Amino acid sequence: MSDISPVSYEMAASAVARITLDRAEARNAQDTRLLYALNDAFERAAADPEVKVIILAANGPHFSAGHDVFESGNNVAQLQKSMSEHHTVTTAGAFERPGAEGYMAREEEIYIGFCERWRGIPKPTIAQVHGKCISGGLMLVWPCDIIMASDDAQFLDNTVDMGVGGVELFQHAWEFGMRKAKELLFTAEWLSAQEAMRLGMVNHVVPRAELPQRTLDLAERIARKPSFALKLAKEALNASQDAQGRREALRIAFGLHQLAHWHNHALFGSIMDPRFYRDTMKKRPGEARDDAPVKDR
Ligand code: ZN
Repeated sequence: MSDISPVSYEMAASAVARITLDRAEARNAQDTRLLYALNDAFERAAADPEVKVIILAANGPHFSAGHDVFESGNNVAQLQKSMSEHHTVTTAGAFERPGAEGYMAREEEIYIGFCERWRGIPKPTIAQVHGKCISGGLMLVWPCDIIMASDDAQFLDNTVDMGVGGVELFQHAWEFGMRKAKELLFTAEWLSAQEAMRLGMVNHVVPRAELPQRTLDLAERIARKPSFALKLAKEALNASQDAQGRREALRIAFGLHQLAHWHNHALFGSIMDPRFYRDTMKKRPGEARDDAPVKDR
């Protein structure tokens, strides 16, 4: 295992922390180690009284290829065992229990658990997205308060191709509206930055070369406001979204997501439909979706 952290942390300006995904060789695919490093970085920024706004950015050609489906050969028992290497932060349960129990606890901790923790940070967060942002990648940007995208950014939830009905953080209806959420999930097709902005998922689309500075400019404008008022504004807006049933819907969808994993496991011995690996993950020249997830891995 590399000693180099897959996440870097810096003060980008006075009162603005920038957290950067730094696993470019794997297109910032999220393995367990990266997710814990990211959680540590968010907690550091949340706890630092000098930090008022947090930017989440990424190095490399793409923001994130999603969850690392190659970690431990996607062996469920190995993935559950790897949890013992980390200081866990939720009360999800016993990660090494057999059957659905331990694996569900793992997904409760590192997926939906982390996402909800990050959404609840009492400071404004801004996702700075370029290139491709696929499935689990959405679970890094959706918990942020504001999303800045470069004009080449593209978004995709292709979990239906994996035999699963959506990523663990099932916020699609709030991000896209119901009709578009259904179309995007059913087709597993790309959403452009411009279309994502039209739908309200993205705040601004800017030329790629300008993305870091434009994001920092926005962060600095926000950082000049009183921190407690920012915290209260965020909490009130999050509460208004939760009052629409977001949390309850997330919980139901998470249960269905687990059902899908164990349906696949019963049929194929794998928590994802193996046709996904065969048909989608291998490089097929000329097909846009294949140029991000696994190249150079
Ligand atoms: Zn899952």
